[in-house]
Amino acid sequence: MNFDVNAVPSPSYVVEESLLRKNLEILKSVIDRTGCKILLAQKGFSMYSVYPLIGEYLDGVTSSSLNEARLGREEMGKEVHTYAPAFSDAEIDEILNLSDHIVFNSFHQWNKYKEKVQNHSRKIEVGLRINPEYSEIEVDMYNPCFAYSRFGITLENFDASQLDGIDGLHFHTMCEQNSDTLERTVKVVDEKFGEYIKQMKWINFGGGHHITRPDYDLDTLVRSIMYMKDKYDIDVYLEPGEAIALHTGYLVTTVLDVMENGMQIGILDTSAACHMPDVLEMPYRPHIIGSGMPNEKQYTYRFGGPTCLAGDVIGDYSFDHPLKPGDKLVFTDMAHYTMVKNNTFNGINLPSIVLNTIDDGLKVLKRFGYEDFKIRL
Ligand SMILES: *Cc1c(COP(=O)(O)O)cnc(C)c1O
Repeated sequence: MNFDVNAVPSPSYVVEESLLRKNLEILKSVIDRTGCKILLAQKGFSMYSVYPLIGEYLDGVTSSSLNEARLGREEMGKEVHTYAPAFSDAEIDEILNLSDHIVFNSFHQWNKYKEKVQNHSRKIEVGLRINPEYSEIEVDMYNPCFAYSRFGITLENFDASQLDGIDGLHFHTMCEQNSDTLERTVKVVDEKFGEYIKQMKWINFGGGHHITRPDYDLDTLVRSIMYMKDKYDIDVYLEPGEAIALHTGYLVTTVLDVMENGMQIGILDTSAACHMPDVLEMPYRPHIIGSGMPNEKQYTYRFGGPTCLAGDVIGDYSFDHPLKPGDKLVFTDMAHYTMVKNNTFNGINLPSIVLNTIDDGLKVLKRFGYEDFKIRL
């Protein structure tokens, strides 16, 4: 952490430009070594004020909705790819106007919109999402290959007679994984779908690649990309979300009160339910700078949010010093899957959004208030 916690509003998400650039340089090195293309999956990180910066390194964005496609088109202006489990008649025209690639989830959807795509004034590349029925994700919530999954076409349902006009195949079967998982996945995809990949211009490896994690094996990633490129002479796309913003941001919060009920309980001005929902959904325990596991240090606290949800509990943490109201705490790794998922449940205000720039230091980009709460109701 490279800034003064007392110089930012509380609560606030603070993203460090220097850390973001460090991640982007790693991703760019993969592009340079392989000639692959890498897109930002906006689902995980849509802080559009840094899209121009991301666009210096990456090839564009991937979108899971009309709104994301528009944000990527307006704020980055590079390639826009869009995939959704199903598109609607109400949105398809606008989505096509905004997208360079569109990925359909079924032959039915492809046939439904084929004419629109092919009669469009611009050439739009079309992909089909396949389900290789192979993934190493153990939590069903995050496993697109679990039984009866709605994501992609399985080999059994793949109809080779309907590939006219299809430019690429897309799979997304990973979550926070290293490249050994990718290598095994690519092998399965190749065995099952190789004869169709042969007919394609590109293949998209989806997201879930933890490329910017310190122990990530870049050589195996490069080998997996080059395997597909060399064998089929096609372009390879990756569309990570988390890897772009991994370990680049913080959530700064203030202790509002400390109370006692069998243990010390700290009430914060930030909420798991509103501001870091993955803590409850995943679930996981985010790290706080300077803290230890419960009872590892002398003073242990359970932290909860300011909402009325009993389960709005972030976790138990210990410290060398007792905490008091007004103390600041800093949660780490809070840039991805936070701002994009937060909400104003209980009327709780959204954290401000701050960028710690390399040249000019802290910049408060967004402050939220009553109107942001009211406008959605
Ligand atoms: C979620 C998702 C991504 C990004 O996943 P990360 O885990 O954030 O890298 C990419 N592509 C698709 C289709 C997704 O659903």
